Amino acid sequence: MRNRSAYDELLSHLQRIHHLETVAGLLGWDEQVNLPPNSADLRARQHAVMAETRHAAATATSLGELLATLEQSAAELDADQRIVVREARRDYDRATKLPADFVREKAAQSSIGYHAWAKARAAADFAGYAPVLAKNLELAKREAAYLGWGDRPYDYMIDKHDPGMTAAAITKLFTELKAELVPLVRRITASPVKPQRELLRGFPVEAQRDFLREVTEKLGFDYGRGRIDVSLHPFCSGSGADIRMTTRFNADEPLDSLFSSIHETGHGLYEQGLPGAHHATALGQAAGMGAHESQSRLWENQVGRSREFWRHFEPRFRATFPQQTAAVASDELYLAINAVAPTLIRVDADEVTYNLHIILRFEIEQRLFAGTLAVRDLPAAWNTLAQELLGLTPANDREGVLQDVHWSDGAFGYFPSYCLGNMLAAQLWYRALELHPKLPEDFAAGNFGWLLDWLHENVHALGKRYPLPELARRVTGEELSPRALVRYLQERYVPLYCS
Ligand SMILES: [Zn+2]
Repeated sequence: MRNRSAYDELLSHLQRIHHLETVAGLLGWDEQVNLPPNSADLRARQHAVMAETRHAAATATSLGELLATLEQSAAELDADQRIVVREARRDYDRATKLPADFVREKAAQSSIGYHAWAKARAAADFAGYAPVLAKNLELAKREAAYLGWGDRPYDYMIDKHDPGMTAAAITKLFTELKAELVPLVRRITASPVKPQRELLRGFPVEAQRDFLREVTEKLGFDYGRGRIDVSLHPFCSGSGADIRMTTRFNADEPLDSLFSSIHETGHGLYEQGLPGAHHATALGQAAGMGAHESQSRLWENQVGRSREFWRHFEPRFRATFPQQTAAVASDELYLAINAVAPTLIRVDADEVTYNLHIILRFEIEQRLFAGTLAVRDLPAAWNTLAQELLGLTPANDREGVLQDVHWSDGAFGYFPSYCLGNMLAAQLWYRALELHPKLPEDFAAGNFGWLLDWLHENVHALGKRYPLPELARRVTGEELSPRALVRYLQERYVPLYCS
């Protein structure tokens, strides 16, 4: 009895934290989408108040006492309740085990880091950024130590994004992937087949907006509980009851806005599929970043770049843009959709070479944390790896080590999730095909419901119950592995480029 009321109290506490987070998320969304140019100072103060309020709720002594009470009599809780308590404990520890001085130092460093990075990037001057990076590395190691991961700081950074994953496990997966991917990219690069995306020019933004709305609605996104707007960098935020996605438009890059929208829709479908009664607890939250990326990439790539998807949507695309597509043959359009060409810039990369950008960053992070690579030697190490993996050498550090914002904010261990998501997406794809071999025919008929229902039932409904490796095992019957991804990339790209 005592336990039941303690559990209910925990739920109401977690709901309060969740609501504060969604309000902060809305402020962040609004900042990216609507904020007038001279209102940034007010928004910064609003953010600070929200962060303080959220931190107070997340670190309240009463919350710690509730968790202790529930843990003492865990036998009286059912399996789901134990998961809620376990994850609430994890969050509580991460919020309370860091000394206030450290939290302040890290927050200040985050702002210093961003500005130093932006300046260094503009000037392609790594030397000015190196001390900031060294400091961020030191802070990351200290944070790991406060939380009991002092002997494995990089594993701590990985676990923050994908609970259950370790650097050793990722090394094994990436080594296998790299061995297959580098030769595949070489074959594609050597191919005389060259996609011509410049065939697609002058697509009016309003019509692009209508078309992507039609596509994303058909995939199953519920616009009664979400919307899509425009921002500089596309993202998806909010919780299942109110999802805010963004995209961007360029009249000469219609595929960019379409595919980034399908990607964000994959994130949105995941959030909308999480159990609505449990959004405040682990039972109604996403399993981790890798799992999230598996959803966005499955819809973007396996579904959105498939022949069958375009069998359905190509006539609609042509009807929406009759003049712009008149001189573009079907095969040319399909090749432009599946364009592969190594580039130095990760965010411009196609789905094949993208993984090599992640492997590069993972190898560097590992060496930085192990102390076998000094910060000052980073540009040289980066350039060597870029040549080895992509066959390209940056002309300057802006095209190399300075291109990503992540490290300026101390976000180490974040990059691998993208590639783990690609692996899981391919595994989910083949499992779905095995269960429902007519899936491609469904797509050609404009029917995406079977896949969404299957994902709802087998991924979304599970919330945060299982860490990524176990989620993969449960849903696909196999260990998390790059084999399905390699098979998928070969099946899609070898016939296009190498036959
Ligand atoms: Zn994503």
